[in-house]
Amino acid sequence: MKGAIKDDELTVIEDGGILIDNDRLHAVGTHTELVGTAKTLGADIRELNGDHVCLPGFIDAHTHICFGGSRANDYAMRNAGKTYLEIANAGGGIWDTVTQTRKTSKEQLIKGIVKRTKRHLKNGVTTLEVKSGYGLSVPEELKMLYAIKEANSQIPTDLIATCLAAHMVPKDYSGSPADYLEEMANTLLPKLKEEQLCDRIDAFIEEGAFTASLIRPYFSKARELGFDITVHADQFSTGGSAVAVQHNAISADHLEASTSNEIALLANSNVISVALPGASIGLGCSFTPARELLDAGGSLAIASDHNPGSAPMGDLLTQAAILGAFQKLTNAEVLAGITFRAAAALKLEDRGRLEEGQLADLSIFHTNDYKEILYNQGNFKPCMVYKNGVLSFDKHNN
Ligand SMILES: [Zn+2]
Repeated sequence: MKGAIKDDELTVIEDGGILIDNDRLHAVGTHTELVGTAKTLGADIRELNGDHVCLPGFIDAHTHICFGGSRANDYAMRNAGKTYLEIANAGGGIWDTVTQTRKTSKEQLIKGIVKRTKRHLKNGVTTLEVKSGYGLSVPEELKMLYAIKEANSQIPTDLIATCLAAHMVPKDYSGSPADYLEEMANTLLPKLKEEQLCDRIDAFIEEGAFTASLIRPYFSKARELGFDITVHADQFSTGGSAVAVQHNAISADHLEASTSNEIALLANSNVISVALPGASIGLGCSFTPARELLDAGGSLAIASDHNPGSAPMGDLLTQAAILGAFQKLTNAEVLAGITFRAAAALKLEDRGRLEEGQLADLSIFHTNDYKEILYNQGNFKPCMVYKNGVLSFDKHNN
């Protein structure tokens, strides 16, 4: 599960077949082996003509696709050389998205999530994590998490919700950062459990956001209530990965600023490192040291960080392929990062591999060689996507 993977460790089945029973994979093997079983069982047989490669449905383990507004202006200002502070003073930054999201109705938020999720599905993504964190008050965070829950019931894709109330201290909050976190811990977190809105709590550990000591009581309360922890760590400065390890987080995400100390710490823990190349591309800064993390024995997932500010592209396959080229990752490492290792970053054991008993989530590409997929750097999309055993996207019908 952890460490580097060579391409020859990847199991490739030539002339393969898959038996699907309702939403699950019943068997995976060669066509010859399976066709007899399928006939005995009286199963419907669908032959795919021409060359096809089938991969597990992709899993995007870190997104912020529940939001209102656009930050196209921020993006233009940043590329015109304006600083973070200048952009914030001009009314941009995360706070702009908070203001826009608060003005957006729950129904409009649902529409936005559904629209973005459909695009991800066409790109082969069958499971998507979605964070709150643009509400930053009890009612507004709840509005976002209800929107994610309702959107999830309208689409085939599985949405995994995470509460990111600890994204930043809202500008309109009169108390201290500690007061804000205490209020969220005592009021919001129990409500999330009561309403079954999410099982995961995230925090942005960074200068200007939350420090290790501020977050300690908040995470303790979250653990007490039975939440899993995940951390925005080491994006611009170090410190977040140590918080992730101390609090037994499932994952530490970003890590662009991680040095050999943080890499060793993460690699020797059970925390999964999540690289977010979309944020590096959006901000024009360095990539997560993915090669070093894997060589040190860590586990690496890759996610899109799809958000209106730093990662507006939201194309997991493209970004994973680009990270692979810059960080010298094998095909196997990149594909693991968006399938079974991404599943582990969300603590999901029922997906991410083509194995008996797993969910029948499939991304199918029209090619005779799996290496063509990353070679085309995301410009080559799936021709068919199955979610829970149902053909949910078919290029021929679009
Ligand atoms: Zn993020």
